[in-house]
Amino acid sequence: MTGTASEPLRDGPATLARVADEVRVCERCALSARRTHAVPGEGNPRSDVLMVGEGPGAREDATGRPFVGPAGQLLDELLRSIGWERGDVFITNIVKCRPPGNRDPEPDEAATCAAYLERQERALDPAVVVTLGRHSLRRYLPGARIGEAHGRLRRSFSGQHVFPMYHPAAALHQASLRDTLFRDMRGLPGALLDAREAITAERAATIQAEEATVTVVIPDPGLAEAAQMTLFEER
Ligand code: URA
Repeated sequence: MTGTASEPLRDGPATLARVADEVRVCERCALSARRTHAVPGEGNPRSDVLMVGEGPGAREDATGRPFVGPAGQLLDELLRSIGWERGDVFITNIVKCRPPGNRDPEPDEAATCAAYLERQERALDPAVVVTLGRHSLRRYLPGARIGEAHGRLRRSFSGQHVFPMYHPAAALHQASLRDTLFRDMRGLPGALLDAREAITAERAATIQAEEATVTVVIPDPGLAEAAQMTLFEER
């Protein structure tokens, strides 16, 4: 990840606010020319769950807020179905400006915008990243297929815990995906617990390894003295 030296890990709220300010005036790619509002993302800046969609649609462009159109209403419903609300998670997108006519984001647009998402990831340091749709899935698990990956916790190459889901908009076009989305959502709290457990275990193992290294490195004063005596006697 590429966060800057002035943006330490889990410096959540301050970094997220700074990224949002930068996104709102960003002109790094052509999408900025046709937007009404850029959509940096919103939610709980201390959440352990980061949800990443594709890009703003018409309502998001009009309001500057993510997932407030029909897909967003379904996302709210999905969150409520497990007793969560959008204020419990942080929601953002692969690209922060609306692609014209809701077309797919171009690879160069996603690549340009990735610097913002990387800083958001670093600021939140979430236990789980929930990918909503194919474009988001591709960023974290390149080569994975949504039909096989959805609803199961996976690790990205960089070690992030990723929980792939279909995009809520897909269920608006294909009714059979609605049940799948609700079923996958029911698996999210358990996936979050599993991810947290794995993270805690890995941190404990790292601390143990560091302590073991420290034990080896700290010189024993008695041994140092003994070594000096030996040197003295050999002269
Ligand atoms: N679809 C997305 O991927 N993101 C939004 O913010 C809204 C719709």
